[in-house]
Amino acid sequence: MIILMKRNSTKEEIGKVTAWIETAGYKPHVSEGVERTIIGAVGTDEGRSMLKSVAFLPGVERIVPILKPYKLAGREFHEQDTVVRVGDVEIGGPGFAVIAGPCSIESEEQMMECGYIAKKAGARLLRGGAFKPRTSPYSFQGMGEEGLKILKNVGEKMGMPVVTEVMDTKDIDLIEDYSDMFQIGARNVQNFALLKRIGMSRKPVLLKRGLMTTIEELLMSAEYILSGGNTGVILCERGIRTFETATRNTLDISAVPVIKELTHLPVIIDPSHAAGHAKYIIPLTRAAVAAGAHGAIIEIHPQPEKALSDGPQSLRPEVFYRLMDEVRILDEAMQNGIGKL
Ligand code: PEP
Ligand code: MN
Repeated sequence: MIILMKRNSTKEEIGKVTAWIETAGYKPHVSEGVERTIIGAVGTDEGRSMLKSVAFLPGVERIVPILKPYKLAGREFHEQDTVVRVGDVEIGGPGFAVIAGPCSIESEEQMMECGYIAKKAGARLLRGGAFKPRTSPYSFQGMGEEGLKILKNVGEKMGMPVVTEVMDTKDIDLIEDYSDMFQIGARNVQNFALLKRIGMSRKPVLLKRGLMTTIEELLMSAEYILSGGNTGVILCERGIRTFETATRNTLDISAVPVIKELTHLPVIIDPSHAAGHAKYIIPLTRAAVAAGAHGAIIEIHPQPEKALSDGPQSLRPEVFYRLMDEVRILDEAMQNGIGKL
């Protein structure tokens, strides 16, 4: 349920409305717009009849049911685009933000090289995995805390916020100390214990769509995080599983305009895990800019043939520099010309 307050409603009236919502067994989510305050009441349906009486409180203009199952992620509750801040970087506003770095943190030297390449090319955020979700238990599983230390250190040296994956609730406190943003990977998009716990954090989250997740399921996963009070969710399309085997997954580029229509949350593209081959990353990134994505996350490596994970899809420095030059040209066209038509 959305409670639309009158334009001149007072803080006291708003306070009484949120108290009423809580008494009815719901959670209030206050959104202060330029013109008026909107309050979302989210919860299970048990106290519904009591909740509806909120309409009679002073300051309330009217109440409107939220029809979509994702209450806080949907545009019904929050019409304007959400801009998520990660350190000093904004994702979700104008401009295409690139996150770059290796699949896995492998050593101080490798991470420093990646940080240098990412910075020089104009990427805004640095990525690197310390806890890796590998298909095989015999594959490299990541450096753990040692890797997190390296990532934080390189991020600070380069002046770039960092993002790394969290796979287990038990690692959240540790990762929170080292990273500016959590990544919840494709395999954990419906790990509800993890989503709920991340919802309690106030660090932003990069939430990846799963291999077999519908857009609505992705938005419901975002809803778990938002309903815990964490509003910094960025969605990521990273390829879904189809009958096609020429690429590792199939990049669902249509997810970008669909997600932008349904939700106010930023959406970015991960062409690396979608394609699985370095040679397709530039054309897919071009498509992401043109489709209106707010950014991309791209795997790079100084020597992809020696990478401990995802080497075949990782870009060599010179290819990444070219990609970033192209992104700048396309992004400018989107912001000043074709994107405005
Ligand atoms: C990754 O970012 O390295 C990763 C494992 O991604 P995904 O969860 O999309 O497979
Ligand atoms: Mn990877």
